[in-house]
Amino acid sequence: MTDSIFSKIIRGEVPAHKIYEDDFVISILDIGPLSEGHALVIPKEPAATIDTLSDEFAAAVGRVLPRITRAIQKVTGATAVNILQNNGADAGQAVDHVHFHIIPKFTGRNPGTGLMIDWTPGSLSQDEALELGKQIKRLL
Ligand code: 5GP
Repeated sequence: MTDSIFSKIIRGEVPAHKIYEDDFVISILDIGPLSEGHALVIPKEPAATIDTLSDEFAAAVGRVLPRITRAIQKVTGATAVNILQNNGADAGQAVDHVHFHIIPKFTGRNPGTGLMIDWTPGSLSQDEALELGKQIKRLL
């Protein structure tokens, strides 16, 4: 449980540009956008990280992500989006309340804005995949 800036926004104690709200979820424009239309989708449950979020609130986020993405793309003309969830400080999470970023990308306009990803693929051996998969499946 956490009482972050997002809990204060959810309770209406701190102002934000709200673009969507239902009983489970709020969506606001990010105060420091990486590109035009950068928004956050935040479950109202005060879970710090996604591994502690209930199925109910996780499902509620999943239900609205496509709809909010469509609206942002339509309004901004974004040709693509990155959906990002920084989970834990080591992954760059700054606010300890689960949130998903919707970060628009633009072709031919606003070049260089949006999420820049440094993605360096490794490799996965058959043995490694089998063992890892087995261990993870046991917990699910
Ligand atoms: P994180 O690194 O935790 O995934 O990202 C936190 C995000 O929340 C950042 O993009 C930051 O700009 C945004 N943010 C932090 N405080 C506020 C706030 O008070 N209002 C709004 N609208 N966004 C915030």
